[in-house]
Amino acid sequence: MVRNPGPAQLQALTRDRGRQHCRAMTDFMDMALAEAEAAGARGEVPIGCVVVEGASGRVLSRQGNRTEELKDPTAHAEMLAIREAAAAQSSPRLDACDLYVSLEPCAMCAQAISFARVRRLYYGAEDPKMGGVAHGARVFAQSTCHHRPEVYPGLGERRAVRLLKEFFASRR
Ligand SMILES: [Zn+2]
Repeated sequence: MVRNPGPAQLQALTRDRGRQHCRAMTDFMDMALAEAEAAGARGEVPIGCVVVEGASGRVLSRQGNRTEELKDPTAHAEMLAIREAAAAQSSPRLDACDLYVSLEPCAMCAQAISFARVRRLYYGAEDPKMGGVAHGARVFAQSTCHHRPEVYPGLGERRAVRLLKEFFASRR
């Protein structure tokens, strides 16, 4: 620890903290991508999600898509991860939590993210076909949406796109 840091030292400290923050974000998205990969290996569409307590960086849940396995059309990675994280917090509100998901959430998941009051949403690939954040319903932009997370798209995008492409190519 530097006592009474001068301007240059302060700058360096801030930069380091910024770097640490970036590394943590990348690590959490890597975790979400690993869950996506595992989902693909189970025959599910490869989408993965991680919910993290923002301040501590504690991972509350990591989940992949399980719609086929559970015969449940709502068993998207985000829904499962939100449920698990809320149970871990013993609260229906995840307002101090950040959610990392490999693909732009659909309208259902975006609404669930809003209901859960998630603080920040980080997603990898854009989903022009099914997405509900930057496309389609644009859930967070509606007047009926009463909590909007901060949204950071494009983290881990290339890997997320590659996973999805490989998955759908192998099914053809
Ligand atoms: Zn969804």
